[in-house]
Amino acid sequence: PSEEYENLRRRIYSNTKEIWYFINHELTKLVNDDVQPEKVQAILDQVADRKRSLLSDQEKLPKLDGYEDWRRSEASEVSDLVQKRLKYLQNPPDCRDARKVICNLNKGCGFGCQLHHIVYCLIFAYATERTLILNSKGWRYNNKGWEYVFHPISDTCTTAYDDKVVPWPASYDAKVVSLPFIDSVSQKPKFLPLAVPSDLAHRIVRFNGDPSSWWIGQMLKYVLKPRAAMQKAINETIAKMNFKNPIVGVHIRRTDKVGTEAAFHHIDEYMVHVKEYYRTLEMTKHVDKKRVYLATDDANVLQDARNKYKEYEFLGDPSIAKTAATHRRYTPLSLTGLLVDLHMLAMCDYIVCTFSSQVGRVAYEMMQANRPDASDSFHSLDDIYYFGGQNAHDRRALMNHEAGGQEISFQAGDLIGIAGNHWNGFGRGTNKRTNLNGLIPWYKTADHLVLYPFPEYKHLQT
Ligand code: GDP
Repeated sequence: PSEEYENLRRRIYSNTKEIWYFINHELTKLVNDDVQPEKVQAILDQVADRKRSLLSDQEKLPKLDGYEDWRRSEASEVSDLVQKRLKYLQNPPDCRDARKVICNLNKGCGFGCQLHHIVYCLIFAYATERTLILNSKGWRYNNKGWEYVFHPISDTCTTAYDDKVVPWPASYDAKVVSLPFIDSVSQKPKFLPLAVPSDLAHRIVRFNGDPSSWWIGQMLKYVLKPRAAMQKAINETIAKMNFKNPIVGVHIRRTDKVGTEAAFHHIDEYMVHVKEYYRTLEMTKHVDKKRVYLATDDANVLQDARNKYKEYEFLGDPSIAKTAATHRRYTPLSLTGLLVDLHMLAMCDYIVCTFSSQVGRVAYEMMQANRPDASDSFHSLDDIYYFGGQNAHDRRALMNHEAGGQEISFQAGDLIGIAGNHWNGFGRGTNKRTNLNGLIPWYKTADHLVLYPFPEYKHLQT
């Protein structure tokens, strides 16, 4: 399939959702205003069903257009290529000689945040052709270090010997550099997320609707390889659960996050989207059991959900949620629980979460790594997808727009720096040509993918 066809297909799907967000938002206001609420609700229900039918039909397109097998094999080929390059980078022929970058795993934050720290370091390594050395002694999730839980990120090269270490930004010639946290990088290199390698981008867009998170998922795929003991613990917990498709994953982030970095969201808000998922599925399939995998750091949520939503079967382990609560969090046991949750969420057909949480974003990135395309398999209640510390995320105007109210005007071709989508048909952004900030009708714009000329590791291509 051509790139244009794939983009068009995804655009129609996304704009079907956008027209629904708009109508749903406007009519729900009328219901709440008490102007003939029953009548407006009846219209809303009618429109909702038409939306489900449209989405359900469109979901069949990539299955019926004859390219499904091709997409699957292309996705696995490009993934294999990336993994092979990373393996080469991490196992240089002569470790003593190799240029290196050092990354300290001493960031005082949760596991999702630390994973993203490693991803940033690995992308830096890949972009500058340096072997990544991970320093993780005294790591907060396991005092003995990362290598005690996961396979080391190199088999042959894990030290910079006693070479001089120069803090980055350093001259290109420095043999060993060490990296600051991404938050304190002032002049951000252009290869940082959401950029994707130019030599792969045109292949990725033909099987995946969100190449930036696919690329990040590939970094996670390389580093997240549990050792035998950890894998055994994960497998044993999973074996106790009745995991079957169809299943929707729900991630509910509470405790320390609420009120500081994110708003509180009631279980009902998540379940609206779970219900929509199943109602759409039921248009074409008989669903015997509506399963939900529930991951959370709030020990009460699972029981609440079971009491309230009796027609659903909730999978989840209350003891995992208990160890995930803030005061018990930074322990090897809680790490096992989190890895179970992440693994399960990533295996679900669809996830409902808050992308303000790094756990939610990691789950999505892992989904992106375990199937050709997960870009339509989630709903975030708050943020759009992002990578903490990323470079600007822009959308490109596809047509002209005359502003009304709190909107901003734009011309086809304008780049608009994006702050978020309000899930009501509009997002917020700044037109980079006029510098005006305001609301933008989302459907008149399309995501602007940033390409960067990463090294191509040509000698590895077969
Ligand atoms: P964020 O704070 O949500 O952006 O993500 P972080 O990963 O940086 O920190 C949150 C930490 O809380 C995680 O690393 C876990 O230790 C814990 N946590 C949050 N949500 C869950 C969950 O659903 N399951 C488990 N097992 N732990 C969680």
